[in-house]
Amino acid sequence: MDSDASREFLESLPELKADQTFCFDCNPDVPCFNRCCADLTLPLTPYDVLRLRRQLGMSGEDFLQRFTSMRSFPDTGFPLPMLRMLQMPGDPCPFVGPAGCMVYEDRPGACRCYPLGRGASIGRDAAGQNTVLERFFLVREEHCRGFDQGTARTPAQWFADQQVDVYNASNDRYMRLMTMVRASGRPLEARLATTAVLCLFQLDKFRELIANMRIFERVEVDDARKAAVMDAKADEAALDFALDWMELVIFSKSERLSKKL
Ligand code: SF4
Ligand code: SF4
Repeated sequence: MDSDASREFLESLPELKADQTFCFDCNPDVPCFNRCCADLTLPLTPYDVLRLRRQLGMSGEDFLQRFTSMRSFPDTGFPLPMLRMLQMPGDPCPFVGPAGCMVYEDRPGACRCYPLGRGASIGRDAAGQNTVLERFFLVREEHCRGFDQGTARTPAQWFADQQVDVYNASNDRYMRLMTMVRASGRPLEARLATTAVLCLFQLDKFRELIANMRIFERVEVDDARKAAVMDAKADEAALDFALDWMELVIFSKSERLSKKL
């Protein structure tokens, strides 16, 4: 996930090369336990919302209303839900409790990456093919005692430990779509931005849209993918299809969409 503001913030931090290591550990015994889970500016990606909403057993619409403030990326017009801190002393995250993060298994990608920041952009590999280029930055906050302990790990090892790769894969797909829109020089108009909220952040409603609009009659989708997308227990498949569908809707000039997805 990227935006001008977050890119500028990341680039103000010390960079860690892919083969460099850092020591860090966080556990309930650190004296600063829970101090980082408050007063945050925390944008949520579609995959973050998928995981949180599913763990909480809420609809996408209810989750967005109860826990987020909706903004949009200024350069592309894509929706950007921000996790709303509680309005009480210290501005805590709504998911922090005395024993730590109450949604730990499904905490957002940014919480998993911490204390690393990941800057991702679309570039070219050695063979000239489009690829995701990654940079890593170390967030060293004064109150955080996690750097006093832990074993040395590279960014890749840290991400593997925190099971962040599945988040990065989905977020990078979203970033590719936004990069295409940015390159077109035409941010989403209001109608498409509303469609993006529904398709990407309210997968339950996206399934209804698929049925009501007979989307599977308008694009070529193989039967296995159709079944996975409509399976309420397979939100990952629905989000993956939603990203393809949004790309088709944004860039198709034709009234009758026809493409193999
Ligand atoms: S989601 Fe969990 S880890 Fe992230 S800020 Fe909130 S309480 Fe902390
Ligand atoms: S060690 Fe850092 S990440 Fe862990 S609780 Fe303390 S401030 Fe938060």
